[in-house]
Amino acid sequence: MNVNVIEVKGLKKSYGQVHAVRGVDLSIPAGEIFALLGPNGAGKTTTVEILEGFRGRDAGEISILGFDPQTQGYAARQWRDRIGIVLQSAADAGDLTVIETVKHFSGYYSKPRNIDEVMNAVGLEDKSGALIRNLSGGQRRRLDVALGIIGSPELLFLDEPTTGFDPEARRAFWALIEQLRGTGTTILLTTHYLDEAEALADRVAVINNGLIVEVSTPAELGGRATAQAVVTWRDGSQIKTEATDNPTAVVARLSAHFGGEIPELAVIRPSLEDIYLTMIGGRDE
Ligand code: ATP
Repeated sequence: MNVNVIEVKGLKKSYGQVHAVRGVDLSIPAGEIFALLGPNGAGKTTTVEILEGFRGRDAGEISILGFDPQTQGYAARQWRDRIGIVLQSAADAGDLTVIETVKHFSGYYSKPRNIDEVMNAVGLEDKSGALIRNLSGGQRRRLDVALGIIGSPELLFLDEPTTGFDPEARRAFWALIEQLRGTGTTILLTTHYLDEAEALADRVAVINNGLIVEVSTPAELGGRATAQAVVTWRDGSQIKTEATDNPTAVVARLSAHFGGEIPELAVIRPSLEDIYLTMIGGRDE
């Protein structure tokens, strides 16, 4: 069995004249945390909602846990039982308490997680009796995540899970995802935060204007791992620069030349942000 949990070939979707997804391919094996990273309007939500079975498509082949989300028919219920979904904006259930909502959702699944464990994992144990409408934005998002994982999904979709979080809540959420990594859950998350993709994902697909620009590990994105370093230093009144594959050797040479400390030494590599902005800027139409 070498079937990927997610297999997508040639996915296309337009809304009238807007070509939101223009030919996307994805292969995501079991246990991987995969990020779809792109700016607003890139096609991330359209792509994941098609994979979740919530939107139709114009073209392409899709297999999610071995099923086509559009045509699985009688298998729909068993299929949904294996999937967890955190939508961009969750359904409103303002008059229920947190714990009532989590319990209610757990009833939909054949092997739900322990409710207390889930409440602890998302950091809502102190809010279990609170009405949903009284939660802060970040707390509501954590509740969304609780509802996404309550069914022990094999595959979890997270659409921009930390949008609107403060930095502390984002860190807590990242820790939660790390915990899920340990359970072997396959996760497809969308984000427009580069640092989030870097912190969480085994692999990242950068999507822009409905097309995947590149798929790689965060460390290798845009050729970053092999990009040349630029060494700069001061020599008398001049700032000197040297691009090199071997900055250590350059620094050793300069150190010998200056007899120790190199004036105003800096070794610079393109940051992930530089690379990402070039990738998404270069494809804009
Ligand atoms: P964001 O980060 O802002 O959520 P996204 O990458 O998720 O963006 P999508 O929501 O997939 O992007 O949108 C892709 C394009 O399709 C955008 O130009 C958007 O305006 C358009 N679009 C999305 N949904 C619809 C819809 N239901 N009807 C018409 N156009 C849509």
